[in-house]
Amino acid sequence: MLAEKKQDCWSQFLAYIEERCSAAEYSNWLAPVKVVSESAKAITLEVPNIFVQEYILSNYKRDLKAFLPLKDNGDLALSFVIATPIKPKEIAPAPAKANDTFTAKLNAGYTFPKFIEGPSNQFVKSAAMGVARRPGTSYNPLFIHGGVGLGKTHLLHAIGHHIDKHHPSLKIQCITTEAFVNDLVEHLRNKSIDKMKRYYRNLDVLLVDDIQFLQSRLNFEEEFCNTFEALINQNKQIVITSDKPPSELKLSERMTARMEWGLVAHLGMPDLETRVAILQHKAEQKGLKLPNKVAFFIAEHINNNVRQLEGAINRLTATTQLMHLDITEEVAEKTLSEMFQYTSHKQVSVEGVLKSVAALFNVRVSDLRGSSRTKEIALPRQIAMYLAKELINESLMKIASSFGGKTHSTLLHAWKKVARLLESDETLRRRVQMARRNIEA
Ligand code: ADP
Ligand code: MG
Repeated sequence: MLAEKKQDCWSQFLAYIEERCSAAEYSNWLAPVKVVSESAKAITLEVPNIFVQEYILSNYKRDLKAFLPLKDNGDLALSFVIATPIKPKEIAPAPAKANDTFTAKLNAGYTFPKFIEGPSNQFVKSAAMGVARRPGTSYNPLFIHGGVGLGKTHLLHAIGHHIDKHHPSLKIQCITTEAFVNDLVEHLRNKSIDKMKRYYRNLDVLLVDDIQFLQSRLNFEEEFCNTFEALINQNKQIVITSDKPPSELKLSERMTARMEWGLVAHLGMPDLETRVAILQHKAEQKGLKLPNKVAFFIAEHINNNVRQLEGAINRLTATTQLMHLDITEEVAEKTLSEMFQYTSHKQVSVEGVLKSVAALFNVRVSDLRGSSRTKEIALPRQIAMYLAKELINESLMKIASSFGGKTHSTLLHAWKKVARLLESDETLRRRVQMARRNIEA
């Protein structure tokens, strides 16, 4: 009876997991696995590559133990074989240097002249231009970080355009982290990984967008790191963008250290005058006559994302042309009010965060500010720190000191810990979301 039950243990495991993971995860990591042999005592699985094996073991060990045969010592009686592809298909190597293909991948509008400068982005822009003028010899890697819609991709592509134009013999690749990982998976599947390595290691310039996505694809970190080191060691230029600085990314110490080797530059939200200049620039491109007064009015109300400034111009252009209206503050307010509301977040204070977390976890605000390390208080305190960092636009030092004089590294440590917990703890995630809604309400 037991033997019979065990016979089908892999499909039972699959059925159980399928209900608990995303469709993408299932089809990427679980569906390609085949059972080679299965008995009551042991099971052998065939996986397309070593990454799938590692992924399954590191994510599902506990569940596997519930379904699959075990050895006497309690370990999984599980072994893997790597599949040989049925018909090895040659993947065409990425083009060595096909200017047209490369520039086609770059957004034509993302150039240096079209990037409007102001105090919040001057430094990053000049670092980017420095790298573009003398690739591999100034800052290497150049790491650009900043919030959504502030121009990271724009600058990355601008570097690509500039190098392509002024150093036509250099081999450049501009790629999103997602695409890099997909490329890697594809080459692993086709056993052509050496070709990919050769291609990447022969580049002169590697531009990588949104490295934060490597956090959810940790199995690929090592390969990325190896490519990275191989290039840097030959003085080949690397530029990376990210929504967070290296120290706040959940990546290995090795990877973090590599990214901090060169220059880490922060891209902030442009100040009011720069936002006005961006609005005017975008309006001009659209053929829209935007009175300065209205530009100021919009810039005052949209203040956390340049992409939204662009959206505002698009919307305003469409409405005013369609309805033959003159552009006034009233028209702008009517047309854009949703965007205004969206961005006019309530100012969140540390006090507000503490109150909300204290109420939710049934502790006192003074406990959260205090230094008790009992679990009932330490965890809510760390959650409050996490939320404060997420919701309050102040320096870490300033936020930390509002927690009864904690240091910025305590705050960062708490933030990291909670971020990690939230990944696996659904109940906690819901509670934290509840606190967040409370605070922002
Ligand atoms: P990110 O990659 O940081 O999310 P993007 O580079 O995609 O942001 O920028 C969002 C939009 O805002 C793009 O259309 C970009 O051209 C525009 N943009 C951002 N910053 C500026 C700037 N300083 N000057 C002109 N346009 C900008
Ligand atoms: Mg981007």
